[in-house]
Amino acid sequence: SMNHKPISARTRELLNTYGLTLKKSLGQNFLTDSHVLDKIIRAAGLSQESGVIEIGPGIGALTERLAGHAGKVVAVELDGRLVPVLKDLFQNHPHVEIIHGDALEVDLEAIIREHLQDAETLHVVANLPYYVTSPILVRLLTERYPLTNIVIMIQKEVADRLAAKPGTKDYSSLSVLVQYFAEAEEVARVPSHVFVPRPQVDSAVARLTLRSRPAVDVKNEELFFKVVRAAFAQRRKTLLNTLHANLLPKVDKAQVEEWLKEAGIDPKRRGETLDLQEFATFVQVIDQKLT
Ligand code: SAM
Repeated sequence: SMNHKPISARTRELLNTYGLTLKKSLGQNFLTDSHVLDKIIRAAGLSQESGVIEIGPGIGALTERLAGHAGKVVAVELDGRLVPVLKDLFQNHPHVEIIHGDALEVDLEAIIREHLQDAETLHVVANLPYYVTSPILVRLLTERYPLTNIVIMIQKEVADRLAAKPGTKDYSSLSVLVQYFAEAEEVARVPSHVFVPRPQVDSAVARLTLRSRPAVDVKNEELFFKVVRAAFAQRRKTLLNTLHANLLPKVDKAQVEEWLKEAGIDPKRRGETLDLQEFATFVQVIDQKLT
C-alpha cells in the first residue's frame, strides 16, 4: 500500500505513474521528508475527533498522514490534474474528501457545515503554495472560522514576520493581523532540500493557535486594519507623516498630531514600533473623532 516506500521514492513514482510535471506557478514543491511530516502532525495536536482542512494536497504526502490522525480530512487542490490522482489514492478512505478548488475562493463555511460538522476541533494544516500565503492567512483569520489552530509550512521569512515583536525589522502589518487573532510560533526550520523540486528559499513550520477573543479590544476592526496598513506603508517616515499621507490626507496634520498625543503616542515614532494595544488605543481615539 501507500506506506511502504520512502516518501521521496513515493513522490517520484507517483509523478512518473501519472505522467505529471510540476507547475512552478502553482507553488508545487512537494514534501519528501517523513520527519518533517511528523513534526507538522505533532504540532497540530490531532485526535480522532479532529476535522482538518488541508490546502494544496499535491499528491497527498501530508494528506496521508492527516488521514491517519484525524477523524475527517477535507483537502482543497487547485490543480485539476492532481484531483483524479488524489481521488484514486484515497478511494478507500471515506473520511478523506478531495475538493477541486481555489483555497481563496471555495466556500469554507459550506465545507465546514457539510463535512466537518461533527468535529470537536477544527484545524487547517498545509504545506502552503508560497505565492498565496498572505491572502490565505488573511482569509482564514478575518473570516473567523472556529479553528483551534493553523499549522503551515511557509517561507522562513514569512514565519519570522508572523511572530515578530514591535520594533524589529520583521514586524509588519501581517504580524499585527496574525497576533491580533492568534498566538504565533515557529515549530521547525525546514531546509529546501526536503522538497521536490527544491524551492529557492528555506522554509519553516509555523503554528497559529487561535485566541478565544482578539488580543486587544477593538470596536472598529476595519479601521484598525486600515490604520495598521497605513502605519507600515512607509516604514522610514514618522508615524505622523505616514498616517497623514496614507490614512488621513484630508485631515489637518496638526490635528493628526493631536490625536496621536491624545492616545499617548509620540508622533515622531515609527509605525513599526507600536504594539497592538497602542494601535487599538489610537483607533479608539480617531474612531470617535471621525464619526
Ligand atoms: N501538500 C503537498 C506536499 O506537502 O507535498 C503539496 C504542497 S505544494 C507546496 C502546494 C500545493 O498547493 C500544490 O499542490 C498546488 O497545486 C496547490 N495550490 C496552489 N495554489 C492553490 C490554491 N489557490 N488553492 C488550493 N491549492 C493550491
